[in-house]
Amino acid sequence: MPGVTESVIGGVYDSLLALVYPEACAVCGGPVESRLDAPVCAACWTATRLFDENDNLCWKCGAFTPAKIAADKRQMVRCGECDADNFTAARACGLYEDGLRASVLALKREPHVANRLAQIIANAQRQPPLNGADVIVPVPLHSERERERGYNQAAVLAREVARATRLPIEESVLFRRIHTERHRAGMDAKARRVSVAGAFEVRQPKLIVGRRVLLIDDVFTTGATVSECAAVLKTAGASDVYVLTIARA
Ligand SMILES: [Zn+2]
Ligand SMILES: [Zn+2]
Repeated sequence: MPGVTESVIGGVYDSLLALVYPEACAVCGGPVESRLDAPVCAACWTATRLFDENDNLCWKCGAFTPAKIAADKRQMVRCGECDADNFTAARACGLYEDGLRASVLALKREPHVANRLAQIIANAQRQPPLNGADVIVPVPLHSERERERGYNQAAVLAREVARATRLPIEESVLFRRIHTERHRAGMDAKARRVSVAGAFEVRQPKLIVGRRVLLIDDVFTTGATVSECAAVLKTAGASDVYVLTIARA
């Protein structure tokens, strides 16, 4: 099993590097003892709250609700804001804070996903309803933006999720043909929806016809981008579109 040997050697090498040059934790500033945890230390990961099967989330969009709902009623929970969204269901690993926020920011600076984050995302994919997905598709960047940054952070993330979940990945299915304006903090849900309308197209529909797509992006904000992607994927024949992101803003 060359993959196992490789990851063991990689892990040992990473631990040695971390001993010699400990990275500063992006949350507390202390040393990150294992590069597998980067960009935050193990203690800050422990303090980062992740959604789990006991949380009450809108079954469709994954919005967190502090209300107590019986386990057998969770599938009926709806936030009332996401009825028009085109995806089947969306989930994030947790809220946009602590280790998850630091990970989103780190992924914008360098094309690297540490093992800890990959495992957290893979665990989120194993919970229903996302565990029904059978092919991974990253949210594409416009080619101009990808050239500026040097990589598409959603694709980097999606490759690690594919590795951790062993699901196949199709990177050439979804294409972003319009260079949409950056979503600004002040844009409301409606303005965001208008700005992404018609921005995406499916280039090789045969790769997703009848399949249950797991769409991957870094952050879920209003859901406008992933909803637009889900619309074109479903029109092209995908039977379901699930969305998985690192964090929910
Ligand atoms: Zn820390
Ligand atoms: Zn909702």
